[in-house]
Amino acid sequence: MSDADVSPWWTAEELGSEHLDAVIAPVLERVEAARDAGRMPRSLLLAGAPRLGRERVAVKIAAMLTCPAGGPPGCSCPSCRRVRSGVHPDVTLVRASGKRGQIVIDQVRAIVEAVPGKPFEGRTRVWILDGVEAGRFGREAANAFLKTLEEPPDHVRFVLLAANPEAVLPTIRSRCQRLVLPGAAAMARLFGDTSIPPELAAAAVAGADVGTAVGDVRSALEAALEGEILGLLGAARNLDPEPAGFQIAALAALGVAGDLGGERADGLVHVAADLLQAEGRQRALNLNRGRQILAALLSWYRSQGRN
Ligand SMILES: [Zn+2]
Repeated sequence: MSDADVSPWWTAEELGSEHLDAVIAPVLERVEAARDAGRMPRSLLLAGAPRLGRERVAVKIAAMLTCPAGGPPGCSCPSCRRVRSGVHPDVTLVRASGKRGQIVIDQVRAIVEAVPGKPFEGRTRVWILDGVEAGRFGREAANAFLKTLEEPPDHVRFVLLAANPEAVLPTIRSRCQRLVLPGAAAMARLFGDTSIPPELAAAAVAGADVGTAVGDVRSALEAALEGEILGLLGAARNLDPEPAGFQIAALAALGVAGDLGGERADGLVHVAADLLQAEGRQRALNLNRGRQILAALLSWYRSQGRN
């Protein structure tokens, strides 16, 4: 296998902060109980939004399945520590790659070829597939994977990740046991402030610097009121990878509107409403987040020009 075939491990940012551990603990306790009772399914489908804990859960499950001591989720043995650092030879992360951002057939062939091989260290090998919705896990690749997914050898476990299990091909979905992660609302409760949108709170729990992001968009909107548009473009682009991008932009728009008052504020309140609606569409259709945030901010900017 060449270096190009090896998927990079998740970054610390993708794995999220330790604050998430309290939210995911009940899920991991169930997995631990299943493992200890010898009832661990061969293939798990972890349902949860990216970067709100699912990566962290997947890594901890992989550590539990490969731990020579049968340790708990936070086990500090050398094996579990290496899993968490992404350097354990028996744990492989498979991520979408290439121009189309998909898990491709060559990656599946590499799994199928490697699966019969014995574990390098312990008794179990784990493959984590990050993002198996139909749009990211092409039909050809998925079909090549089916037989292996259905009848993996005793020493193999698969952990498949999806934000929306309904968007996973039924042939893949039906071969996995589903494990649903706590939603954003549960994370918001942990964050303790129910007056802010749940996903915004969840992003903060996950370690995102929401306060800074809101401040950046706010100053971009204020600059745009003075005729400076470039800041808006940059703010929209920076929000693109944020799970809570829409709420951040909406919150900033409402903040500026509150200070402005009058007719000029109305435009920004509409922008905030547009952004929250766009979020629903984005979820349903998996559209480009940054482009939609930008479109909402730009339409407001153009309406400024006409007034
Ligand atoms: Zn361990």
